Amino acid sequence: ATHEETLGFQTEVKQLLNLMIHSLYSNREIFLRELISNAADACDKLRYQALDNDALYEGDSELRVEIEHDSEAGTVTLRDNGIGMNREDVIANLGTIAKSGTAEFLKQLSGEQQKDARLIGQFGVGFYSGFIVADEITVRTRKAGDAADAGVEWRSKGEGEFVVAEIEREKHGTEIILHLKEDAREFADDYRLQSLVRKYSDHIEVPVKMPRTEKATDDDGNEVDGSEVTTWETVNEATALWVRPKSEVSEDEYKAFYKHVAHDFSDPLTWSHNKVEGNLEYTSLLYVPGRAPFDLYERDGARGVKLYVQRVFIMDDAEQFLPLYLRFIKGVLDTRDLSLNVSRELLQQDPKVEKIKSALTKRALDMLKKLAKDKEAYQTFWNTFGSVLKEGPAEDYANRDKISGLLRFSSTHTDSATQDQSLADYVERMKEGQDKIYYIVADGFNATKNSPHLEIFRKKGIEVLLLHDRIDEWLMSHLTEFDGKKFADVAKGDLDLGDVEDEDEKKAQEETAKSKEDLVKRVKEALGEEVQEVKITHRLTDSPACVVLPEHEMGFQMRRIMEAAGQ
Ligand code: ADP
Ligand code: MG
Repeated sequence: ATHEETLGFQTEVKQLLNLMIHSLYSNREIFLRELISNAADACDKLRYQALDNDALYEGDSELRVEIEHDSEAGTVTLRDNGIGMNREDVIANLGTIAKSGTAEFLKQLSGEQQKDARLIGQFGVGFYSGFIVADEITVRTRKAGDAADAGVEWRSKGEGEFVVAEIEREKHGTEIILHLKEDAREFADDYRLQSLVRKYSDHIEVPVKMPRTEKATDDDGNEVDGSEVTTWETVNEATALWVRPKSEVSEDEYKAFYKHVAHDFSDPLTWSHNKVEGNLEYTSLLYVPGRAPFDLYERDGARGVKLYVQRVFIMDDAEQFLPLYLRFIKGVLDTRDLSLNVSRELLQQDPKVEKIKSALTKRALDMLKKLAKDKEAYQTFWNTFGSVLKEGPAEDYANRDKISGLLRFSSTHTDSATQDQSLADYVERMKEGQDKIYYIVADGFNATKNSPHLEIFRKKGIEVLLLHDRIDEWLMSHLTEFDGKKFADVAKGDLDLGDVEDEDEKKAQEETAKSKEDLVKRVKEALGEEVQEVKITHRLTDSPACVVLPEHEMGFQMRRIMEAAGQ
């Protein structure tokens, strides 16, 4: 090796290595999944680039991953004939973490093993996970299409720095040698490696091969002294999972595939696998995760599906196929309707993309509807992603009704902060003569629950939805009715309880209003410009007075948001 250079890891990498080695200890076998996953990605990338330029295969178009070990030396080696890396790639990919939100992510780590392990897996720090089992890693690689002398060697002990050097490398692709720690030597074992490959990488389309060495035999089947032959056997299933018929894929396989696609350690809540033929032709496999990603509320957070065109991987995070309010959905889309050289820019202009998006949106909403039948699972979903789904009615007018059916709220029916009541539940419990769905919006659950506006409703036993999420006022400004019933904010405008009030009551109210005209006048004078109007009200039973907004006025919460935004 020539031109050796020692470089320091980016600070974040150092922090991460430190944390990872400790927090992932009990999960350390995942290093293999991560490295195979990278090798498979590298094969996908080469296949994609070779579509325009066959020469990149350099005569070796049988893409594969090979795993070897040497139990005496205590090493495990992974090799792929994928895209490979040049010097710049190596320094950028294996020396830094390029992902946005890294600092934010590191802040979230708690030092609690279990929790951090899950976070780290999801963050996808794949390559560095090698250092959980290795005290030294050597990478030898060459980018497909580059000259043989443009190979690069990278090595590091995973402490503060790494070395890069120029090498000759005849084959393109990447080889990673893990020098196992004393206590991780168990991984340099045929059986162990094979079962891990099956466990984690069955669904990967690229074959993962391991060598089998046998004594050579002659034509008559007799052993030839001292000579051995090595055959490479494919260990994994090696067909893309979504291409297989549903009936032939087990739950465990679906779950393992989810973990690969979503960079998640935990199981998904549910999934939906569909093959569509006809006008549009695509296969989709969509998952609802069980946990929120760390960047769910970040503008540039990763979202979207993994896009394939006729089984050829095109891109990760293709966000054009799902609306923003379904950004938590993970999965794969494979279609014949797009061309293989489609790019992010082209996706934005292709009318077929819009059609697929609308189909996938329906699939996702149907999947949630099905999930809702399992109350416990749906509650987990709602607690995790409910406030994202609440963006739906504003973003997706056409599916407003479907989305409304999926919403869950707190309500005076349970008086609990848990949002677990559907609008259908509410409608079913409506009083005779009641024609509206009543709600109140305030900052925080207690503020809604203890609002004086509720007094009359509680007295009459009329249910009111208690909306206390930041987004609720925005949501309600885009919902007008559900199941033919209009929504009414109990803190706005004149209180009209419809036919729930009887005639006698109305009369009594009118009489009170008349007899208190003087009082009203005095209060009005005292408050002067501060208020628009002072009225006698029947909404209160215990409190003497409350502030009410005109019907079409912006609500308190919205005002506060606008003020905070400097409006
Ligand atoms: P991620 O896979 O999420 O991007 P990793 O830490 O696993 O993160 O890998 C970092 C980057 O290193 C990859 O995005 C890829 O560019 C590069 N890389 C890792 N392994 C390989 C490989 N076997 N062949 C080519 N590039 C690789
Ligand atoms: Mg990776």
